[in-house]
Amino acid sequence: MPSRWYHNSAMEKQILIAGGGIGGLAAALACSRAGWSATLMERTREFGEVGAGIQMGPNVVRRLHAWGLEDDLKKVAAYPEMLRVRSADTGDVLGRLPLGERARKLYGAPYATIHRADLHTLLLKAVEKDGTVQLHLGRWLESFLDIGPAVQVTALDGAQLEGQALVGADGLWSTVRQNLLNDAEPRITGHLAYRALIAQRELPAFLRSSNVTVWMGPDLHVVQYPVRRGHWLNVVAIVKGQVIGDVDDWDQETHTSDLRAAMGRTCNRLQDLVSAINNWRLWALCDRPPMVSAGEQAKGRVALLGDAAHPMRPYMAQGAGMAIEDATCLQAVLSGPERPMAERLQAYANERWRRNARVQARSIRNGQIFHAKGLMRWGRDAAMDVLGTRLLDVPWLYRG
Ligand SMILES: Cc1cc2nc3c(=O)[nH]c(=O)nc-3n(C[C@H](O)[C@H](O)[C@H](O)COP(=O)(O)OP(=O)(O)OC[C@H]3O[C@@H](n4cnc5c(N)ncnc54)[C@H](O)[C@@H]3O)c2cc1C
Repeated sequence: MPSRWYHNSAMEKQILIAGGGIGGLAAALACSRAGWSATLMERTREFGEVGAGIQMGPNVVRRLHAWGLEDDLKKVAAYPEMLRVRSADTGDVLGRLPLGERARKLYGAPYATIHRADLHTLLLKAVEKDGTVQLHLGRWLESFLDIGPAVQVTALDGAQLEGQALVGADGLWSTVRQNLLNDAEPRITGHLAYRALIAQRELPAFLRSSNVTVWMGPDLHVVQYPVRRGHWLNVVAIVKGQVIGDVDDWDQETHTSDLRAAMGRTCNRLQDLVSAINNWRLWALCDRPPMVSAGEQAKGRVALLGDAAHPMRPYMAQGAGMAIEDATCLQAVLSGPERPMAERLQAYANERWRRNARVQARSIRNGQIFHAKGLMRWGRDAAMDVLGTRLLDVPWLYRG
C-alpha cells in the first residue's frame, strides 16, 4: 500500500490526537485555544457516543464555562438541585447534598447532568467553530514513532501523519498506551453496569425526578438523574457479575428480568423504576490501578489523556471530568512560553497524575462504601446520618 503523508506547513504548531471521544475532542479544543493546529484521528466512520448520561461536578462545568460553552450547555444539560442517598432495601433517605446554588457559591459553577451525546456534540461544534482542527474519521492509529524532532503516526489504512506531539485519547484499550508503556491490560472489576434512558413523560409521576438519587444496597447500587433539560431520566444500576465473551467490546443488550434478578430484594420503588424501563444495555466495568508516576501520563512527545491514561470505576462520576481537566492542563502547557515539547508534556504529566490517581483511588473506595454489607454498612449509614452533607461533599475535587 502506498504511504500517504499528511504534512502541515506550520509543522511546529501541529498536534496529533488519537481518539474522538469526549477526551479527544476536549484535547482538540484545548490545542485550538492554545493557538496550535491539531489533527484528530477517530477510528469509527461517524462520531458518536453511547446512549447514556454523565454527571459533571462543578470542577468540570467550570472548565466548560471557561471555554465559553456556558450558553450551549444550558440548552442541553440539567442542573439538579439536590443529591439524595437512599437505602436500596428500604427506600429511606440516608443523606443529602444540596447542589444548585450551593455549588455555584462554593465552587464557582453548578453541578450538571447531561446526555453523553449532547456533551460530545457540544465539544465537536466548538472544535468545528474554531476551525483549526482537521478531523479524520475512519482513521485508526496503528503505531507511532517518536523520532526526536517530531512524532510520526501510521494508520491502519496506510496513511502517515507527522506532528510535534501525539496525544493518546484512545480510551480504555488505548493503542497509544500499549505502544508507549507496554504495561498490563486493564483489569476486569467484576462489576457490571446496566444503563438505560427513558423519557420522563413515559414514567408514572411518582418515578419522575429532577434530582440525583443514589440507591445503596449490599453488593449493588443504582444512580438516577435527569438529562436533556430534565426531559429524560438516566438510570445506571451496578451489580456484581461475570463477563461472558470478549471484554474488549462488551456492550450487550439485556432485559429487565435479568436486572431484576441481579437486584435481589430491593424496595418496591426501585423495583418499579427498573420495571418501567425496557431498553437496558449491559457493560463490563474495567479499570487500572491508580497511577503511580508522571511516566504513566506522558513520555517524550507523547501524552496520554482520559481513559487511556487513568481509566477508573464510575463511583466518583469523574472519568470524563478528569479527561476534560487533562485537556485544560494541556492547553495551559501549550500556551506557555516557548520551550521543547517534551518539557511541556512533562509539565502536563507532573501537574495531572497525582490528582488523577487520587480520583481513581477514591472511586475504588466509594465502590466499597456504596456496596457495603454488615458492620461497614451500619457505620456508613450512621456516619451519613451524623455528618450528612459534609460526608457527601468533595471540596478538594470540586475546587481543584
Ligand atoms: C457506567 C459508567 C458511568 C459513567 N459515568 C460517568 C459520569 O457520570 N461522569 C464522568 O465524568 N464519567 C463517567 N464515566 C466515565 C466516562 O464515560 C469515561 O471516563 C470517558 O467517556 C472517557 O472518555 P475518553 O475520550 O478518554 O475515552 P473513550 O470515550 O473511550 O473514547 C476513545 C475514542 O478513541 C477511539 N479510538 C480507540 N482506539 C483508536 C485508535 N487506535 N485510533 C483512532 N481512534 C481510536 C474510540 O473509537 C473512541 O471514540 C462513566 C463510565 C461508565 C462505564
